[in-house]
Amino acid sequence: MVESTDFLIVGCGPAGATAAREAARAGIATIVLDKDAVVGEKRVCAAGLRPGFCATFDLPRSLVHCDTPRLALFDNDGREHEIAFGPGHTTTREELDGTMARLAMREGAEIRTSALMRDVRADAAGTLVEYADLRSGERRTLRANAVFLAQGATAKLERSSFADPRWQHGLMTTLQHRLYLDRPARPVTYQTLELHYYRARDGRQIVAWMFPKRDHLAIGLGLTGKMNGRALREELDAFTERVRARLFATSRVLRVKEEGHLLYGGWPRARVAEGVHMLGGTAAGLVDATNGEGIYEAAMSGRLAADAIATHRASPHAAAARYARQLQARFQRRLEHRVRLMRFLEDRPARFELLFEQLARSRAFSDALQREEHERTLRDKLVLYANAARFGVRASFA
Ligand SMILES: Cc1cc2nc3c(=O)[nH]c(=O)nc-3n(C[C@H](O)[C@H](O)[C@H](O)COP(=O)(O)OP(=O)(O)OC[C@H]3O[C@@H](n4cnc5c(N)ncnc54)[C@H](O)[C@@H]3O)c2cc1C
Repeated sequence: MVESTDFLIVGCGPAGATAAREAARAGIATIVLDKDAVVGEKRVCAAGLRPGFCATFDLPRSLVHCDTPRLALFDNDGREHEIAFGPGHTTTREELDGTMARLAMREGAEIRTSALMRDVRADAAGTLVEYADLRSGERRTLRANAVFLAQGATAKLERSSFADPRWQHGLMTTLQHRLYLDRPARPVTYQTLELHYYRARDGRQIVAWMFPKRDHLAIGLGLTGKMNGRALREELDAFTERVRARLFATSRVLRVKEEGHLLYGGWPRARVAEGVHMLGGTAAGLVDATNGEGIYEAAMSGRLAADAIATHRASPHAAAARYARQLQARFQRRLEHRVRLMRFLEDRPARFELLFEQLARSRAFSDALQREEHERTLRDKLVLYANAARFGVRASFA
């Protein structure tokens, strides 16, 4: 006998957990598989959240570590540009993913941990998903009417119909330190999300960050492609030293936890649904290439998948088609535009400074840029077009 369920989700990150919570709440039998023994425990992430995130996804404020009303963008010369923002928030993925998973279970979703998905294939009666139960060592099979694949940046889809030739070019190497200090850093540290854009010693573009947490600072960086461990560590040490001199020169570092993972910073996948299979979160390429934000996009893709399944209970094919339409209407244009913008900026480092200056000078511009397309008013659009034209002219002479 093969076990069966209505909705099977692979991956219990923000995408999978949101899909599970909202589908289960709609009365759909839902099972989630996650390879980790404890959800969120191994996620490497700066875990910055956009303004309003907890309210949008009905999450408790208790998971927020710091409210960050300041967004500070640093250009290639290390100059700081303060952008009106939020406030944004920080958390840790242990808390965020753990909370999301608990809320999904409370709605009735079943979450199987230490469950490594191995294979997804179709048969006459639906879709069969094979996974390894890492506790018992057994291989198990589940039959599902619909499947939501949300395995994050490590999703291996290049031999599937979701394959996208641009995927490989979007993968980034990251390294992050969690720094535990003997005394707090300067107060402004805990009010600020810092993003730094500068060239690595080998000439590649680095995006680095300092995101404050209750008991530590997350300081890390990412760059496209691979870099050997030693060179990457040297880059991170040099960056940490610059942050230390500004923010915690008189504190002693008690402990450092080093963590590294793949980050995706490329084009959203062209195909996000096929048959009864839907692709969500980072596995679908839903990450903002300019700043690495993907938690919001992941959670929203989970919501859209749950909504599609609930709307077309009797027809998973129709659900998947609805999901693809809605996801692409929501994110495709913005995320593609962000890839193009990032490539344009990377071409000449001076362009970062020009853009940041414009953003710092105009609250209307930074507000409009931070809004999702469907939230933008006519005024937002006019502000964006005017600023884009001004920036385009200035940047072409940079
Ligand atoms: C260093 C770094 C910093 C980042 N900082 C931020 C930030 O500050 N703000 C932000 O918004 N975004 C940030 N991101 C991006 C963010 O982490 C992702 O966009 C987000 O986690 C995507 O969520 P997801 O649910 O799609 O996938 P993930 O969160 O990656 O979750 C995937 C889940 O699938 C599971 N899984 C994978 N393969 C299998 C398998 N075969 N079988 C079973 N389970 C499997 C994993 O265990 C995991 O739980 C950062 C990323 C990195 C790497």
